[in-house]
Amino acid sequence: MANATVDAVTPQRSADKQGRTKTVGYAAQSSTSPLQPFSFERREPGPDDVQIEILYCGVCHSDLHTVRNEWEAFMPTAYPAVPGHEIVGRVSKVGAQVSKFKEGDLAAVGCLVDSCRKCESCKAGLENYCEVGATFTYNSPDPHLGGVTYGGYSKRIVVDENYVLKVPANLDLAAVAPLLCAGITTYSPLRHWKVGKGQKVGIVGLGGLGHMGVKLAHALGADVTLFTTSPNKVDDAKRLGAQHVIISKDQAEMEKHVSSFDFILDTVSAEHDLNAYLNLLKRDGSMVLVGAPEKPAPVAAFNLIMARRSLSGSGIGGIPETQEMLDFCGKHGITADIELIPIQKIDEAYERLLRSDVKYRFVIDMASLT
Ligand code: NAP
Ligand code: ZN
Ligand code: ZN
Repeated sequence: MANATVDAVTPQRSADKQGRTKTVGYAAQSSTSPLQPFSFERREPGPDDVQIEILYCGVCHSDLHTVRNEWEAFMPTAYPAVPGHEIVGRVSKVGAQVSKFKEGDLAAVGCLVDSCRKCESCKAGLENYCEVGATFTYNSPDPHLGGVTYGGYSKRIVVDENYVLKVPANLDLAAVAPLLCAGITTYSPLRHWKVGKGQKVGIVGLGGLGHMGVKLAHALGADVTLFTTSPNKVDDAKRLGAQHVIISKDQAEMEKHVSSFDFILDTVSAEHDLNAYLNLLKRDGSMVLVGAPEKPAPVAAFNLIMARRSLSGSGIGGIPETQEMLDFCGKHGITADIELIPIQKIDEAYERLLRSDVKYRFVIDMASLT
């Protein structure tokens, strides 16, 4: 996904005339510095905007990749960087033309805050694949104020109502936050590749995305196998909905499953061998990458050729499908398993993510930010 150019989206007003209010967040000033308090401005809500006081924000591994500039070759990070794209909060102000939200409503924001609205992908509700380049919640050119967008590790955000989601009333609010990225990023490929009953489905990695993948694939009726490098996650994986768990370092166990999977979703954040999983697909089976390690991975052509297997990727999800996923989770009582942290513990949380020590998503309690 290319970053949006500044003029990709028609600004409501020119940057210098746009009203602004002060807010606070946590930002990284460079790829090596810890996150620290940062004061900055949000735009005053325009006619179509919703202003949200953020209650909770999930901690995605993409936040860490961005803060440390690990995706430099593809999406270089602009500093100061305020990450966070798993946002839930309460509406504190709405513009004159806003019809879907009113003051006091709960609201959620995911990875996208705008897109061109005119291209084929946008018209199809796939704003995540906007051909001009979507405006992401952080580290995208900000068409309103100039500079870059600042994300949800902050007190307040202002977003066009068309990119704001409704939160099911029956779910725990802090545990809903991770649905806005980890939830939609796993739901979208499971739906696109029509995962359901009678299918043998593998999820690789039990972190934030992986544990949502297990829950959602199970809710869609699939027979779910989790692949993990962490033997201490076996019981949790079963509790979350996996019928089988394979320790991926156990070569003999992996070999027992050659050519048996319909679909494998790979959520791993670091370098690993894709061929070991491609081999496990049946004829015409598909493996989809959602994990985005910094370095490219070699793929043996024969692993694809010999059984007409497919290897694909999938990026977050569009706005209509994100709402569909939230409604699905409301109906099935699905949320993330979370560990609530104060924002002051964010660097420690990043270190734990790097050790695969998360059960299974950190969520920042924004009340800790004063
Ligand atoms: P996470 O919570 O840190 O989980 C990643 C999991 O990968 C770990 O818990 C671990 O699971 C496994 N893992 C880590 N290092 C590994 C290694 N060296 N070899 C094998 N397995 C390893 O991260 P996340 O937030 O779920 O994000 C996962 C990846 O998806 C990140 O790269 C993130 O940027 C990307 N992402 C992509 C999209 C998209 O739109 N495609 C959206 C969001 C995030 P086990 O302990 O079970 O092995
Ligand atoms: Zn994310
Ligand atoms: Zn577009």
